[in-house]
Amino acid sequence: MNITDIPAALISTAVFLLGAAIGSFLNVCIYRLPLGRSIVTPGSACPACGHVIRWFENIPILSFLLLRARCSACNQPISLRYPFVELVMGILAVFLWQKFPFQVDFFIYLTFCAAMVIITFIDLDHMIIPDIISLPGIAIGFAASFISNSMDWQQSLMGILLGGGLFYAVAFIFCLVTKREGMGGGDIKLLAMIGAFLGWQAIPFVIFLSAFVGAVVGLIYTRLYSKGENAQIPYGPFLAGAAICYLFYGQIIITWYMKLFMV
Ligand SMILES: [Zn+2]
Repeated sequence: MNITDIPAALISTAVFLLGAAIGSFLNVCIYRLPLGRSIVTPGSACPACGHVIRWFENIPILSFLLLRARCSACNQPISLRYPFVELVMGILAVFLWQKFPFQVDFFIYLTFCAAMVIITFIDLDHMIIPDIISLPGIAIGFAASFISNSMDWQQSLMGILLGGGLFYAVAFIFCLVTKREGMGGGDIKLLAMIGAFLGWQAIPFVIFLSAFVGAVVGLIYTRLYSKGENAQIPYGPFLAGAAICYLFYGQIIITWYMKLFMV
């Protein structure tokens, strides 16, 4: 390691810790928002015994390892979900820093990724996409486009309209053809939020990728677990995952895909 690499490594470590700390807060949001509880007070407590978690038991990832995945008071296992969310946010923060070093876009898309992580896990747990994230998310994404280096407000506005509108049309046709509700209103608001942050160019990509991966996972899941019956699987995680995929690799994948047809 070169001596000049040290500041960069320090910054990356700090960025990872920032992301992990945000992940720790997201765990609180994921658990409390669907229950309608405050995300500020009271402090975190063990869901099994109510033991108030002390600061040294609340260090992202590290405390989970030191406590050996058990509550220090009642010895009940702590879900692997907690350090997982912290790790994911830490890694996303480092990736974002590499993409947007010393740019306001780092904070804009850190906010976006945090929202995608919350929505993913709440949808997995409760099969809902909370309006309290997606609706302000549309407004914040649009406002952020005015200070972003990689987006302008026209792209954002078009993204909201295309995300909300196109997806509504797809959901409507799906409903008409299959006679059952495939996509909920929550998915439409989420796609409008994705359009607000990533611009209209992201919408076709996110719809195709999420529908494709969602269909494959749905088929496998139905085969394995529900014996032929159509299983209800939440769509939000696929939309959120496709949006994050677009954020980092969208341009590369689209360029590669276009080249296939322009030999
Ligand atoms: Zn406990």
